[in-house]
Amino acid sequence: MGPVTQTLTRLPAMVPPAAELPARTDALRAQVREFLAAERAAGAWTPRSDVWLSGWDEDFSRRLAARGWLGMTIPTAYGGHGASPLDRYVVTEELLAAGAPVAAHWVADRQIGPSLLRFGTEEQRRRFLPGIAAGEVYFGIGMSEPDSGSDLASVRSRATKVDGGWSLSGTKVWTSGGHRAHAFFALVRTSPPEEGKRHAGLSQLIVDLHAPGVTVRPIPLLTGAHHFNEVVFDEVFVPDEMVLGEVGAGWAQVTGELAFERSGPERFLSTFPLLQALVGELAGADLGVAGRRELGSLVARLWSLRRMSLAVAGSLASGQAPELAAAVVKDLGTRFENEIIDAARLLVTVPPDPGADSGFARLLADAVLHAPGFTLRGGTNEVLRGIVARGLGLR
Ligand SMILES: Cc1cc2nc3c(=O)[nH]c(=O)nc-3n(C[C@H](O)[C@H](O)[C@H](O)COP(=O)(O)OP(=O)(O)OC[C@H]3O[C@@H](n4cnc5c(N)ncnc54)[C@H](O)[C@@H]3O)c2cc1C
Repeated sequence: MGPVTQTLTRLPAMVPPAAELPARTDALRAQVREFLAAERAAGAWTPRSDVWLSGWDEDFSRRLAARGWLGMTIPTAYGGHGASPLDRYVVTEELLAAGAPVAAHWVADRQIGPSLLRFGTEEQRRRFLPGIAAGEVYFGIGMSEPDSGSDLASVRSRATKVDGGWSLSGTKVWTSGGHRAHAFFALVRTSPPEEGKRHAGLSQLIVDLHAPGVTVRPIPLLTGAHHFNEVVFDEVFVPDEMVLGEVGAGWAQVTGELAFERSGPERFLSTFPLLQALVGELAGADLGVAGRRELGSLVARLWSLRRMSLAVAGSLASGQAPELAAAVVKDLGTRFENEIIDAARLLVTVPPDPGADSGFARLLADAVLHAPGFTLRGGTNEVLRGIVARGLGLR
């Protein structure tokens, strides 16, 4: 059997089976839409592109929690709702499609809750999960460092064992929402890398971002907005109780967390509100065959991406961590997000007046300014393609 045939025979095992949304989710979807329409009618927020990065609104997070739409998959014993990831999927896609301000709770709800359930101690679960489900406890992601982004295993933040805990020194960077979050999971080195085993000796610590010795400094976005941060640790004491999972098993844990981070609807819906506004903007216009094809192709691809992302959600629901499929969703999905922007620029031939603050102009401006990050955050597309190639045994 040749290498290509060998690869093809491996494929079916790597592709998650298609997932269907259970019929009960129709009622849930209708409730979420009704809630969002009422919020919009009351002027509670304005739809934006890329809301899961920039739409920080703690009151909105609490209102969602009051409806039972945060911490949905967290068991009731920890303040959650014991629902399926597919129920959560429906709520999430409705929020993103509406451009609602979900950034405050996003990381905690998406990946911190599931990681605590998978690797956390009973004490950690009891301490954090109820607050996450209530929309009151916010987390960041402490992975990247100044010289360690794609090559995450090269992180140099170092925790040294001291009495009752760890002393942590080093620097994290690009920490989204780090100035507002209560804590983050930091990937750090707890023992030197062994020859030929550079993924060993890494651990995850739950770091209180207000602890003595932690300095959080802003890194402004292109827009001037404060979203990113540099987080410096200077001999920060992290108690033993705040080690997540096993000391030394950080790499495997982080990899599992990334499957949650890479496959959700936020990886292809960041510019969906713009697509919707574009369709509105073009209503009644003579697009010609090429324009109609362009728009039709976007909608058809959106549907395919959603099917793929749902399949990954189905796999996650059955306890698997389909990293390869998640990488494919993120690569294709984030490129799609950019193509919506290209189509908006191409098809609306009379440029909108930015001063008019029409929905379309605002959504397009947001999308253009945020677009450079789409294919970088959560692992760059080039790196994801490496993961896919390795998964297929191609290099
Ligand atoms: C909007 C946004 C939000 C973010 N939020 C967070 C956060 O909250 N917490 C956090 O920890 N990090 C966060 N990040 C950081 C993000 O994870 C890193 O930017 C990303 O992993 C890339 O790392 P880097 O910036 O160091 O680039 P580098 O790793 O230096 O990459 C530079 C270029 O080289 C390419 N490259 C590198 N290695 C390879 C390879 N092996 N094969 C092919 N090409 C390669 C990359 O694709 C890229 O084009 C965020 C980033 C963005 C844009």
